[in-house]
This record gives sequence, structure tokens and C-alpha cells, in this order.
Amino acid sequence: MKRIITIILILLVSFIITGCNKNEDNNKISIIATNYPSYEFARAVVNNNSNIEVKMLLKPGSESHTYEPTPKDIKLIENSKMFIYVGGESDTWVDDILSSIDTSDKKIVRLIDLVETKSEELKEGMESVEDEEDEIDEEEIDEHVWTSPINAIKIVRKLNEYIDELSIKDKEELDSNASNYINELESIDKEIRSVISSSKRKEIIIGDRFPLRYFADEYSLDYYAAFPGCSEQTEASSKTLSFLINKVKEDNIPVILKMELSNSNIANTIASETNTKVLEFNSAHNIKESDFNKGITYIDIMKENIKVLKEALN
Ligand SMILES: [Zn+2]
Repeated sequence: MKRIITIILILLVSFIITGCNKNEDNNKISIIATNYPSYEFARAVVNNNSNIEVKMLLKPGSESHTYEPTPKDIKLIENSKMFIYVGGESDTWVDDILSSIDTSDKKIVRLIDLVETKSEELKEGMESVEDEEDEIDEEEIDEHVWTSPINAIKIVRKLNEYIDELSIKDKEELDSNASNYINELESIDKEIRSVISSSKRKEIIIGDRFPLRYFADEYSLDYYAAFPGCSEQTEASSKTLSFLINKVKEDNIPVILKMELSNSNIANTIASETNTKVLEFNSAHNIKESDFNKGITYIDIMKENIKVLKEALN
């Protein structure tokens, strides 16, 4: 009887040990990123490296501004060697998590620290929130730093440096991945500049919230939109709608832009009132599940955006 119990105990212990090992995902160095851009730029550096693994917490296809971490997500952050997040108003949950876990063995990276930030802007015609004055006083940082390919280059360079430190023996491979990706970003940037410099218009109208300030400023595009950066509003007042409709008519704008994963209501209303068409400009907050599974990259997304710009600006 004693022997049987001993055997059962040994089996149980070995089961627990193998179980644990399985959970640790083959001992790879783990990088955890919150949303698509923080995931994508780290993924580009790591690419097919066999010692490092990058995971995104946000589920593909889901709304990034209302993300809440699950206990499993917190475990992933705890077990990671690098944790990357944007650091804006959508990420306020991160501070609580980071203060409750041991971060001494981790590199913590905020995208907003890797580039020069701008504050969120309430431009003429944009729907303001009720406490408009509060909003202006606070000078909220516009968190959508990744929407400019020039910022993307800066972010990839920094991440490359940090990821090298995680696995020095892979430095050469990681550096070459990063430099290939940066080359692609540079040609995207050139193409955008050439499209815009040869286009009839330098103005876009967005029937949606406006996360494109870094993009628009980088390429000197003028813009009008229904709401500022990360606004949770989806209903525009008749004042906002008529402002945008008038702008479209005055400036003879051919295309109304809407953002990815949006209900398109405002853009559709403006388009039907002005006999124009709606096209999607993808700000890469998150990615559709099918695109994620296909391995669609930020470069692919920007190539689609360039096609959209060609129509919208001509
Ligand atoms: Zn946003």
C-alpha cells in the first residue's frame, strides 16, 4: 500500500512539473504588448527569432479604448521580461497592475516616451465633451503617436535597442530585422510624401474621431473631424454634422474618411448629404482577427491607407 501511495505521489509531482513547464511556453523570453502598434513594432524586431516571443494582450478585432486585463493577462505581464504599452489615457489600468507586481526583472516601455508627444486638440467643428474647460485645462497627451510612420521608425529603433539587451546573442539577427523593417517604413514615408505633394487637395475630412494628428502634422495635411483623438462619443450633434457637411461642400471634398472598426454612421450621413463616398483610413489601433491571422503588418495597413489618400486628395 505504501509503495502504491509513493508511486501515485511521484506521478502527481511529475505531472505538476510537466504541467508547469508547459505553461512556461518553452522557456522563450517573453515580450508582452498591450495593443496592436506596441505588439507590431516589437514583432517586427523579433520576427522569426527562436528565443524570443511577442504576445499582444488586446484581442484582435476588439475595441482598444475599453480593454480591461484578465487575470491571465496579468500573469503574462508578470512572467514577461519586457512589457510595452502606449502610456496614454486608454492605458490608465497599467499603473495599478505595475504597482502590484514585481517589475525589477522587467523592462517597461511606454511608446509615448520614445517620441515627441503632442497634446490632444479640439479643432474647429469638433464635438467637445461636456466639461470642455476641464478638458482644455488638462492638456491630455494625444496617445496616437504610432500613426506617423516617422514616429514608427523612431519607436522601432528604440525597441531594437531594448530587445537586443534582452538577448545579446541574437543582436545581429534582431538588428537586421529592425533595419529591414525601417527600410520599408522609409519607403512608405517617401510614397506618402510623393502622393501628397502631387495631389490636388491637402485636406481630409473624417466623419469619426480623429486619432491622426501625428500623421496629419507630419505631412502637413489639414483636417476636420467629428471628435478629438480618443473620444468615446459616437453620436455627433447636428451642429457638428452641419459644420462638416458645409466643409465638404465648400472645399469640394470627394471622400469622407472613417476609422477602422467604426460604426460608420457619421461618415455615411455626411456622404449621403453631400453625394460623396466613404473610405476607411486605418489608424492601426487594432487589427481584424482575420488580418491578424494572415500576419498583416503596419506596413500593409499603411499601403492601403496610401491608396485611400490617393482618392481622398484628388
Ligand atoms: Zn485612440
